Amino acid sequence: MSTIFSKIINKEIPSDMVYQDEMVTAFRDINPQAPTHILIIPNKEIPTVNDIEADDEAMMGRMFHVAKKIAAEEGIAEDGFRLIVNCNKHGNQEVFHLHMHLVGGRQLGRMLPR
Ligand code: AMP
Repeated sequence: MSTIFSKIINKEIPSDMVYQDEMVTAFRDINPQAPTHILIIPNKEIPTVNDIEADDEAMMGRMFHVAKKIAAEEGIAEDGFRLIVNCNKHGNQEVFHLHMHLVGGRQLGRMLPR
């Protein structure tokens, strides 16, 4: 069930990594949709939101806390940003290693068309 994101965590392939600790890793998206587009992922291989377990709660909190810190470092905290987690087919998830998109640095459109 490993994906390319495991290779990024283990530094087996290059990435533009901005943060790593014992729980999570963050790196710039290879196909950015905004001036800041960073992926924050658990080091543990969790394919989708559907696979999160009670023991993962601390790690999920870490993902949000790291998102907050990176947004501040990127200088986008005050203007604002968006955190996105896609799940499975209807969510258009492409990489089956849980990840949070941190997107900002420009005015974003509506999250969903009306
Ligand atoms: P999602 O559609 O939510 O599964 O998003 C997957 C994201 O991973 C996309 O925004 C891709 O551009 C990004 N991505 C895929 N491969 C890489 C990679 N090797 N390094 C950085 N980002 C990647």
